[in-house]
Amino acid sequence: MTAEYRRPSTLPELLTDMAEPGAFALAGGTDLIPLRTAGAVSPTLLVDVKHVSELNGITTEADTTRIGAATTLADLAKHHDRSLDAILDGARIVGAPQTRNRATLGGNLCRSSPAGDTLCGLLVLDAIAELHSLNGVRHVPVRDFFTGPGRNVATPSEVLVSIRLPTRHAGSAYHRFTYRRSMDLAIVGVAARLSIKNGTCVDAAIAIGAAAPTPRLVPTAAETLIGTPCDDKTIAHACEQIIAAATPIDDVRGTRTHRLRVLTPLARNTLQTARTRALHT
Ligand SMILES: Cc1cc2nc3c(=O)[nH]c(=O)nc-3n(C[C@H](O)[C@H](O)[C@H](O)COP(=O)(O)OP(=O)(O)OC[C@H]3O[C@@H](n4cnc5c(N)ncnc54)[C@H](O)[C@@H]3O)c2cc1C
Repeated sequence: MTAEYRRPSTLPELLTDMAEPGAFALAGGTDLIPLRTAGAVSPTLLVDVKHVSELNGITTEADTTRIGAATTLADLAKHHDRSLDAILDGARIVGAPQTRNRATLGGNLCRSSPAGDTLCGLLVLDAIAELHSLNGVRHVPVRDFFTGPGRNVATPSEVLVSIRLPTRHAGSAYHRFTYRRSMDLAIVGVAARLSIKNGTCVDAAIAIGAAAPTPRLVPTAAETLIGTPCDDKTIAHACEQIIAAATPIDDVRGTRTHRLRVLTPLARNTLQTARTRALHT
C-alpha cells in the first residue's frame, strides 16, 4: 500500500498531521522504512518531522541540555560535552556513518528496541522525553518510557519534540558487546554514571540493554557503589547485582547463557571507564 508523504515546517502543522489516523512520524527512516518493507507497520501517512525547528539542535542552559528529537546521531557524535558521554558513546557506534547521517536520537528512543545504543545512556543521565500532541505537552522520564520490546508510552498522535537532560558533574560511559566492530547490534550493553568526591562515590546509576525486555536501570547495582571508593572490589559486587537483575533471552544474536557470560566483563569495563571519567571531571 502506498502512503502519502507530508513535510510540515511548523510544530502546529506537524501535530495536526500526526492526529490523522494511520499517521507515522518519519525521522531518518532507518527503522521505519525496513519495518514497513517487512510489513510490520502499515502507515497511510508519513509525516516528516525533520523540518520543524523545535525538533532540531542541541542547546545548553544553566542546568539542562536540550536535544531536539530530530538531531542526527552524526551531529550528536560530533558534540563534545563530557556530561553527555554515555549517550555520545552510544551515538558514535550506531550502524555505519551512512546510518548515523540519517538516524536520529528521537528515532532511536521511539523505536524502543531493547538493544538501542543510546537508550542506556539516556536512562543513566536521567533524560526526560518531551511529548507533544494537539491535547498538550507531557514530560515523561525515560525510566518510565518503555513498556515492552519496541513499545513505549507515546500514543500514535504524539510527537517526541526534545529530550532534556539535567547537567551533572559525573563521569559516564556506555559499552556494548558485539561480534563485529561495526554494523552489528548489541548482544548486551551497559551504561554507568558515577560521581566521585574526595575518593568516595556519592551518586551512581547503571543501566543494561539487550538483557531484559526493555533497557532498564539496575538500582541495586548502583546502591552497591554509593559510599564506597568505587574500587575494583566494589565494582565486582555491582557486577553481581547486574547479573542478578538481567533476564536476557535466547535469540538469533546470542543465547541467554552467552549474554550472561559476557555481561560481567562488559559491566566491569563500563564502570571502570565511568570511574576514570568521573575522576577527571
Ligand atoms: C544498517 C543499520 C544499522 C543499524 N545499527 C544500529 C545500531 O548499531 N544500534 C542501534 O541502536 N540501532 C541501529 N539501527 C537502527 C536505527 O538506525 C536506529 O534505531 C535509529 O536511531 C532510528 O532513528 P531514525 O531517525 O532513523 O528513526 P525512524 O526510522 O524514522 O523512526 C523509528 C520509529 O520512531 C518513530 N519516530 C521517529 N521520530 C519520532 C518522533 N520525533 N516522535 C514520535 N515518533 C517518532 C517512527 O514513527 C518509528 O516508529 C540500525 C539501522 C540500520 C538500517
